[in-house]
Amino acid sequence: MPDLNIIGLVGEVGVDHCINVLAALSHSCGLIIRRAQLNEAASLAGLIILGPDTKLNSPFKSLACPSIRVITCDAGTVAATVRFNAGNNSPIPFRGQSLLADSARPADPQELTGTVVATADGRPVWITSTERGLRHDVCWVPLPWVQKSDCAFEHLNSRRFMNLLPLLEWLRSVSGWQEWQQPPLSACFMFDDPNLHSQRYGFVRFAQLAAEGRSGHYHASFATVPFDGYYVNGAAARIFRDNPQTLSFLIHGNNHTYRELAGRQTLEYQSALMRQAVLRTGQLERKSGVALARVMAPPHGVCSASMMAAMLAAGLEAVCVSHGSVQTGNPGADWTVSLGTLPATVVAGFPVIPRFGLEPDSKNNILLAVYLHQPIIPTSHHWDLADGTEILSAAARFINSLGPVRWGDMTSIVRNNYRSRVRGQVMRIHTFSRITTIRIPEGITELQVEVPWLNLVSEMIEIRGSGNAGQHPPRILPPNDLRAVVVPGKSIDLVVLRNPNNGELPPEIPQTTFGAMTRRVLAELRDRSMPYVPRRFVRR
Ligand SMILES: [Zn+2]
Repeated sequence: MPDLNIIGLVGEVGVDHCINVLAALSHSCGLIIRRAQLNEAASLAGLIILGPDTKLNSPFKSLACPSIRVITCDAGTVAATVRFNAGNNSPIPFRGQSLLADSARPADPQELTGTVVATADGRPVWITSTERGLRHDVCWVPLPWVQKSDCAFEHLNSRRFMNLLPLLEWLRSVSGWQEWQQPPLSACFMFDDPNLHSQRYGFVRFAQLAAEGRSGHYHASFATVPFDGYYVNGAAARIFRDNPQTLSFLIHGNNHTYRELAGRQTLEYQSALMRQAVLRTGQLERKSGVALARVMAPPHGVCSASMMAAMLAAGLEAVCVSHGSVQTGNPGADWTVSLGTLPATVVAGFPVIPRFGLEPDSKNNILLAVYLHQPIIPTSHHWDLADGTEILSAAARFINSLGPVRWGDMTSIVRNNYRSRVRGQVMRIHTFSRITTIRIPEGITELQVEVPWLNLVSEMIEIRGSGNAGQHPPRILPPNDLRAVVVPGKSIDLVVLRNPNNGELPPEIPQTTFGAMTRRVLAELRDRSMPYVPRRFVRR
């Protein structure tokens, strides 16, 4: 009997280098990878065959399990035109798209059998065929390919995605992926630094973005510095209160000092800093009447795992940061290998939601986020709107062309980040969130919850009615049997709670130094003066 979860990796060259990244890729589909031999095919869910061999008249298609041959190729190029065919074999959302990306450029002619899924500069780089109901793919990748210390996102990115996309698509087909409903297509533009001191911040005009978000169907969220909450402009706050569908806030550090969340301070100080950020956020909400997502966008994009632990302890729900920044902030951490393979990487119980820099052409990043079922979060600063808001409208038009998109604030994006699978009256949930909001479909009476990152010693899961729904009085799920009877048609929240910390006193709130205050005030002055200064004097 084949083992339905085990993928075999065959090859003589390069296997040691790539096995960690391929293991992370397999794990994202619920599969396990191990070294294997070709004659083990009958006992495996599938075989990955790695090497430079280009002979296609090989016995691979008579294997007793699905296979993919990854042919490493000396001829690689940057900025190849990669075309995906428009047929059913081509993965959504790449189907029919033509993109510029790094790729192998295998020599012609090739002995081809099967359907060409993608070409690079006109040469096939991905082929698929089905023999006796088993899928057999061939793809070409450029050397150097995956190296030992690489993270998955270093290949699953806007430039190099062809290094791993065929493999991931094949792994999904082997794993029964289609049985799972993935997180919804969700999106949000993000700007770092704006605050409620006036109705505009540099080149960002809140009322304009509210109106354009309504007409162009998009949402913009602003990462604001908790220290800035000392003053709230009434008219600015009203714009946010009146436009929750298109405008929102999240949290941007605490004082916005240099690499504030890099974790260089003591653990106690880190906890105190995050507690202060949350307290200031609450005060800002009371002053403005505007709700802020309990999601952190780290200043200067740097965030250590110890700071994430401090955020979790302070009651934040997630951090939103680029994969590159997470890697830089946590050099050598073994969990970074899987960055980029999942809708969110959960680090010691704290979800890391990826974002990427908005560029005039962000097509590759957007398509890749959709394919990976990650929220689409293009990020900018106010000066990116110096030439107008067309950069937002154009990106929104492309995103909206990909299917029904839920544009919204970071709270709704984070809380909808789960996979589900329905069998009979049972719905299985695999969540990437500390608070998960689920609308129970008609016909479902039982929920099975998968939280592989749950700390059974210090955490528990509570199920409660979502919002004002009172039909579900809060109850704790038994830690070794995460199941609950549910009512169809109702909305519930699954909340990961932490045990009380043995009566320890919360850390003392730190004094904000004069240097930190001055730095932030001057940075704001610089930002606000930019629209009035000739371009050549503006240093971004
Ligand atoms: Zn900033």
